[in-house]
Amino acid sequence: MGKYSILMASSEAAPYAKTGGLGDVVSALYQNFKRNGHEIRLILPGYKKILEGQWEVEGVLESMCVPMGEGEIWCSVKRVSGTEVYLIQHDNFFSREELYNDSEYQEYVDNPYRYGFFCRAVLQFAIDTGFSPDIIHVNDWQTGVIPAYIKREFSSHPSFRKTASVLTIHNIAYQGSYHSGIFRWLGLDINDFNPDVFEDHGKMNFLKGGVAFADMVNTVSPTYAEEVRQPGGGFGLAPYLTNKGESFCGILNGVDYNDWSPWNDSYIKERYSLKRLEGKAVCKRDMQERMGLKPDPDVPVIGMISRIVHQKGFDLVRDMIENILHSMSVQFTILGTGERELENFFSELHKMYPGRVGVHIGFNNELAHVIEAGSDMFCMPSLFEPCGLNQLYSLKYGAVPIVRATGGLNDTVVNYDEKRGTGTGFKFYYPGSLALADTIGWAVSTYYDRPDHFQAVRIEGMNQDFSWKRSAARYLKLYRMALKKKHNE
Ligand code: ADP
Repeated sequence: MGKYSILMASSEAAPYAKTGGLGDVVSALYQNFKRNGHEIRLILPGYKKILEGQWEVEGVLESMCVPMGEGEIWCSVKRVSGTEVYLIQHDNFFSREELYNDSEYQEYVDNPYRYGFFCRAVLQFAIDTGFSPDIIHVNDWQTGVIPAYIKREFSSHPSFRKTASVLTIHNIAYQGSYHSGIFRWLGLDINDFNPDVFEDHGKMNFLKGGVAFADMVNTVSPTYAEEVRQPGGGFGLAPYLTNKGESFCGILNGVDYNDWSPWNDSYIKERYSLKRLEGKAVCKRDMQERMGLKPDPDVPVIGMISRIVHQKGFDLVRDMIENILHSMSVQFTILGTGERELENFFSELHKMYPGRVGVHIGFNNELAHVIEAGSDMFCMPSLFEPCGLNQLYSLKYGAVPIVRATGGLNDTVVNYDEKRGTGTGFKFYYPGSLALADTIGWAVSTYYDRPDHFQAVRIEGMNQDFSWKRSAARYLKLYRMALKKKHNE
């Protein structure tokens, strides 16, 4: 298989800047391709967290002029020392506490300018550093304008003559739809402001333009790729994705088991594996203590780590959690941040049910590992879920997933079969709080009444392999197809 030169553009990459799965996936792909001898450069906005964080950075371009539709913007380019991770430094745009939102979880009003500028700057970086990639791989709406620049402004530019573009949609609910004035500011061709390309009910839609112009488009699980093409699906983009035909597909995310496996985890109290499962009990006790839960080895603990938003089904949890607490002997351990109203609800619960509900509001990677290791079950009742990573981590950590059968959750969890005692988790279908409560009840009764089955399900889950190897090979195939399309143009 040939080696590619790849420019990967993203608004997130772990460990530098991450709010969700996008950061994990981009980082895993970057490392995987680098390890396998591809020439890859990853480029991110120079956020405050990175430039003022624990990483050593060095200058690459002291000043870079980025022509935009209405004038030019100057910035500089840095690199995280010892890596191929590059940063576009523009302090007005990127030197802020959070990536996308203020502390009240309100989106920064200038996001279309911040990320529109970033898109154009990524290409300027390639030109000014003489990097002429085979593939530009862009991710989500924040980098969705890049394929349009390549096809229009740079169609005959020597730096991009051979470059094909690939767009990965990590979550189609976020499309970057903004007032149309942004279009000229970005310097895009006004002829492309039409409903087949960028226009979306009079607004400018970054992701829609990305879908139109990218040579290949994918999303992050086969089931989600089907769901977003259903009539009325894809938050309005279903017809455009359907039109892409063979140029649109679903590739399941993988897990980086160097970061997420209980035998390799430096954050947890005691490492464990299928052969030495005793360590899990130590981790459970440690987690219970850290989260303010009653240390009890026998009670099942249900974990949740997530953005606390509607998509993730937290409304369903809110509507039934007290019934569960009154009717079953269980504990909940919840880590997350998001919508203020839901955050407040869960913080109150922590006070109302001391020792039984542990809640930590915030983003805390270490605690995320501690909760995976210490939980017996892991709950993801998402209304929709492009892939989902935490259920994959949970499988490996022996925290049996309880999930709604949607998107990647459906693709990665095998429902428990009560007759045979097989499966890797517990699934429900209808997106309602009663269905969730019933399924938690089913998992809890299995834990207490059929412990041999529960253990078998846990072990079958720990034996699953969702490493990146297979997914990375599928991305390489996607690159090949994109290049073929480009060369047939
Ligand atoms: P999404 O990308 O929709 O947020 P995923 O399940 O794909 O959901 O990925 C979420 C990632 O972010 C996981 O790695 C998860 O552990 C992490 N994460 C989410 N919220 C938190 C939090 N509050 N603290 C630490 N890690 C978190």
